[in-house]
Amino acid sequence: MFEMKPLPFELTALDPYMSSKTLEFHYGKHYKGYVDKLNELIKDTAYAGMPLEAVIRESFRHPKDRTIYNNAGQVWNHQFFWNSLSDRGATEPELKIMKLIETSFGSYDDFKTVFKAKALAQFGSGWCWVVQKDGQINIATTANADNPISLDLGQPLLCLDVWEHAYYLDYQNRRADFIDAFFAYMIKW
Ligand code: MN
Repeated sequence: MFEMKPLPFELTALDPYMSSKTLEFHYGKHYKGYVDKLNELIKDTAYAGMPLEAVIRESFRHPKDRTIYNNAGQVWNHQFFWNSLSDRGATEPELKIMKLIETSFGSYDDFKTVFKAKALAQFGSGWCWVVQKDGQINIATTANADNPISLDLGQPLLCLDVWEHAYYLDYQNRRADFIDAFFAYMIKW
């Protein structure tokens, strides 16, 4: 049985950039739905009792277990996302990571430009990740429930949920404004 991880801040903590209404649905309905569904699906299967990362890797290899994979991925992705949000204003990467960003992208501003372009270009539902691999910082988008674990993209540092349910109540179709607000007020390295 997987338990819901507590949200690391109050539902109102990110108002108005991510409203309590959004978090109420995103955490209390969408994320809870993935946890509940995953528990229901793995009950009495070989997946019961496995750590979440193992469920993701193993179900990814078996096309018949796609529904388990999707729900396990979404549980993990959301837990990572809650920890990519700051209730104390936007933060900057630590010096070591900042140096790697400057090496790969030129500057932190250039990095943000690339991140925004990629997050906007993700067609439909998905995620935008910052990952570290072979001493390099990369930005990668994944569709639906895919993540750096199953796709072996490297060590994830942070992510942004670009499913419409993450921003529609606050920004409607304006994903660009949501990404700007993420960088200006909510990003947690
Ligand atoms: Mn979501």
